[in-house]
Amino acid sequence: MKLNIPEYISSINPYEPGRPIEAIEREYGIKNSVKLASNENPLGPSPKAVAAVQKHLANMHRYPDGSGHVLTGMLAQKYGVNSENVVIGNGSDDLIALLAQGFLGRGDEALMPLPSFLMYEISVKVAGGVPVMVPLKGLDIDLDAILSGITPRTTMIFLTNPNNPTGSHITKEVLTDFMKEVPENVLVIMDEAYIEFARDKAIFDALASPLEDPRIISLRTFSKAYGLAGFRVGYGIMDSPIAQILHRVRQPFNVNSLAQVAAAAALNDHEFLHQSVKTMHQGIDFLQEQLAGMGIQSFPTQGNFFLLDVRMDAGVVFQKMLAQGVIVRSMKSYGFKTYLRISAGLEEENRRFLRVLEQLLSEVGGMA
Ligand SMILES: *Cc1c(COP(=O)(O)O)cnc(C)c1O
Repeated sequence: MKLNIPEYISSINPYEPGRPIEAIEREYGIKNSVKLASNENPLGPSPKAVAAVQKHLANMHRYPDGSGHVLTGMLAQKYGVNSENVVIGNGSDDLIALLAQGFLGRGDEALMPLPSFLMYEISVKVAGGVPVMVPLKGLDIDLDAILSGITPRTTMIFLTNPNNPTGSHITKEVLTDFMKEVPENVLVIMDEAYIEFARDKAIFDALASPLEDPRIISLRTFSKAYGLAGFRVGYGIMDSPIAQILHRVRQPFNVNSLAQVAAAAALNDHEFLHQSVKTMHQGIDFLQEQLAGMGIQSFPTQGNFFLLDVRMDAGVVFQKMLAQGVIVRSMKSYGFKTYLRISAGLEEENRRFLRVLEQLLSEVGGMA
């Protein structure tokens, strides 16, 4: 059969997600592995979320609340906005896709950093828009180059803050200057998936004074700091005319009821959030200190992950570590040929990563 596939769809490179630990263990015949590859929460989910979900299981013959009334209301209250300013999604991935579908006409352009989160490019293409990639400057998003990339067709700009995979960030001062140069009709989507981990008080936080600039949309997620990646819940805070468009485009039940219940409970679990952030900070500091002692350069981060330079083919190091049950992310396909990205794990996981890396590097005769 000859399929009729639009060119803008056939040109999409499939997203390769970090795979589940079980799938990797099966393929490589390993056990008890440590996964530091997907920026997940090593503490597991919020226990309050787990308890709430268990209680709610008996109601699963019912459709979810399509308006997400409870969760949306809690988020509105947390940030001092109205419910009309909140849109929840099946992960923040969903919100990225909804924004692209709602606002990109055929041939409209969306600017985004390269490398950054791959879902921007995919969602823009699926919507028939044109992704315009702007290379990083070192490890930082190049805001000047993004401004230079604006054309009359530019509809939206994606900024990741802190940035994945580099861990760099945009300060309030810098973003304020940037916004002065952005045309009035261009949306600026701040993907703040890791902002709970940010330690620099000068970072731009779109929800510090939400809706102050109606062009700015904040996207956040329960997948990282709240430990609910498997439930798929994200949200956006935005000017209500933008939210209304997303409500038109989205599926009526885009966030399932267990996910809504889990997220609402996690949002109230302040102790867990605090513990998550603290564990990640301790893990990052420990790892970076130990790596420095081993003569390995790692880079500053505002996220729960960071880049390190192993000074040899990152793909090879990835494979060798995998065989030892330590799963990391090679940055080779992102253009950083000798870099790995790892997220902080529990103390024992971090120690195991260091042991395996040290042994591996000594086997290859130290670093060139
Ligand atoms: C993990 C991540 C997200 C969150 O995605 P979800 O769909 O909410 O799980 C969003 N943006 C970036 C840059 C991420 O790394």
